[in-house]
Amino acid sequence: MIPFTLEAAATPADAIRSALAGGRYIAGGTTLVDLMREEVERPEHLIDINGLALTDIRVDGEDLVIGALARMSDVAAHPEVQRLQPVIAESLIEGASPQLRNMASMGGNLLQRCRCPYFRMLDAACNKRDPGAGCAAMGGINAGHAILGTSDNCAATHPSDVAVALVALDATMTVLGPEGERSFAVEDLFLLPDTTPHREHALRPGELITEIRIPDGPHARAARYLKVRDRQSYEFALVSAAAALHVENGAICDVRIACGGVGTKPWRMRSCEAALIGKAPRREAFAAAAALSTEGARPLAHNADKVALLPRTITRALEMAGELA
Ligand code: SF4
Repeated sequence: MIPFTLEAAATPADAIRSALAGGRYIAGGTTLVDLMREEVERPEHLIDINGLALTDIRVDGEDLVIGALARMSDVAAHPEVQRLQPVIAESLIEGASPQLRNMASMGGNLLQRCRCPYFRMLDAACNKRDPGAGCAAMGGINAGHAILGTSDNCAATHPSDVAVALVALDATMTVLGPEGERSFAVEDLFLLPDTTPHREHALRPGELITEIRIPDGPHARAARYLKVRDRQSYEFALVSAAAALHVENGAICDVRIACGGVGTKPWRMRSCEAALIGKAPRREAFAAAAALSTEGARPLAHNADKVALLPRTITRALEMAGELA
């Protein structure tokens, strides 16, 4: 590992000042330390933000609010999370081993780097690690890569599970930076690779995620997260789906669907949602809507199976949610 310096930030203002001077934030370190060991990431100065008061989990009016430094395990076990937004708890439990959940923060989970193997191989071409170098995955092993939102420059999937549930639930996030506070949809945090795959987030220099806010609604109690993967644990999604349903008088009046493992960012399935409004919550309607999920898909040499797996996963996730509606 390349030597670095470390400071503990006492206040958000101190942390932001150090970040603007070139430091990198570190919370649980479950991604960053790994990448530093492999010398993929080479920060010279780290800002330990674990002492900041950003771990609160609370209910604010109709919203569930989660501090950016709350640990995944604490969020998954919190009674208000389980009562109000059980799909958040489900996606967190599906998302990582207990050891990782105990360390990893919610903000860090959203900002985790991709799991493309070539990103971690220093002798492989990777536009995300080394802009303009090329993309070894395009002609290499790309079974785990994205089919939606890709470009010729990068097809790495976003690896977070809870981000998929947050995008489905229209969650927002608040960040604090040198120009003050601002809030935006979690969905808008993530950038498509296009010609700049090294730019992954819409955060401005020095900005620190402070909290995540999830609005309540009848759909929240009929929501499920389904993760399909090569093995049952310690594995990233081949395809995942968060689905939430609100049914009144036998017809769907609100539905939210987002998917993981298939997009270069957590992928909201709005055309599928629109196709379900007014329909009875039955498998035939779910499957017909799910068939729209692959519009615009661009499979690579080894991941065409995701084109078949994606609508099946959405259909099953909707059925699971429908059992609660
Ligand atoms: Fe790098 Fe993206 Fe290509 Fe993977 S898919 S090698 S992360 S540019």
